[in-house]
Amino acid sequence: MARKYMNRTLIPMALLASLTVTTGLARRPGEPLRPGFNLFSKEQDVQLGAEAAKEVRKQYKVVQNPALQDYVRRVGERLAATDEARASGFQFNFTLIVEPTVNAFALPGGPMFIQTGLFPVLDNEAQLAGVMAHEMSHVILRHGTHQATKAKGIGIVASLAQGVVGDKSAMAQVLDGAIALGANSWMLHYSRDAESEADALGCHMMAEAGWDPSQLATFFLKLNAGERGGAGQIAQFLSDHPNPENRESAIQAEIRTLPRRTYGYTTGEFEKARKAVLAIPVPKSAAPAR
Ligand code: ZN
Repeated sequence: MARKYMNRTLIPMALLASLTVTTGLARRPGEPLRPGFNLFSKEQDVQLGAEAAKEVRKQYKVVQNPALQDYVRRVGERLAATDEARASGFQFNFTLIVEPTVNAFALPGGPMFIQTGLFPVLDNEAQLAGVMAHEMSHVILRHGTHQATKAKGIGIVASLAQGVVGDKSAMAQVLDGAIALGANSWMLHYSRDAESEADALGCHMMAEAGWDPSQLATFFLKLNAGERGGAGQIAQFLSDHPNPENRESAIQAEIRTLPRRTYGYTTGEFEKARKAVLAIPVPKSAAPAR
C-alpha cells in the first residue's frame, strides 16, 4: 500500500490543521448541510452504533406492544424515505423504550430510541416526527463521530502517526477504544452548532414527508416553557440537545427557504398511540445520571 510509505509527518500535520480550523461563519438558513470533518468511516459509524444499541437494549426495557412499535416504526420509515435520509446510505431503525424522562436519542449509523416519556409532552404526530427527524439528522450529519473526532482527534492523529501497531491498524485500535466507551458516550450533549444543523435538516425531512415543520419550533417552545416552569423532567432532552440561540426563529427562517408545500399529513393514529403509551406503567428512570 503506497499510503503506508507516505510522509508520516506531513499527514498528521494536515489532519491537525483540519482539526483546528474553526467552522468559520455560521450557516445561513437554506445553505447546504454536510457532515463535518470526521476521522471515522461511515462503516465505523454503523459498527459503533450497532454495538452501542446492544447495550441500550440491555439497559432499558423495550415496550412490549407490537402495535406501538409498529406505529413509531412507520413514522420513522416515512422520514427515512426522504431524499436526505436515503442519500445518507444509513439504515435506520426505531425502538420505543420504557423510560419516563422526556427524551429520544439516535446512535451513529442509525439505531434510534424513543422514550415513552416523550409522549406526554407531544401535542400531535408532527411533533413526534419532528423529534425523530431531528435525531435522524444527527445520524445523517454524523455528529456523534464528528464530535468524537474533535474530542479525540489529537490522540487519533498520534496513533495514525505511529502507523501499524501489532497486527491491528491504529484506526482499528481507536475504533476498539470508541466501542469500549459504550452507548452513553454517544448520548452526551451535542454542540449548539450541531443542534442548529439537526433542527434545519429535520425541518427539510418533515416537510418532504408532509408533516408541518413549524411543529418542531412549537415543540421546543413548549419544552422551554416547561423548563422555565420548573418541570424537572423536561430538562433531559434540552440537556442532551442544548438550545441554540433563537432556536424557534431559526427554525422558522429555515422553513421560509423551503418550497411552498401543503402540510397536514398524518397517519391518523397519534391519539390512539399516545393513549396507549400513557397507559404503560411508569418505572423508575433507568437513564444514567449525567
Ligand atoms: Zn439534537
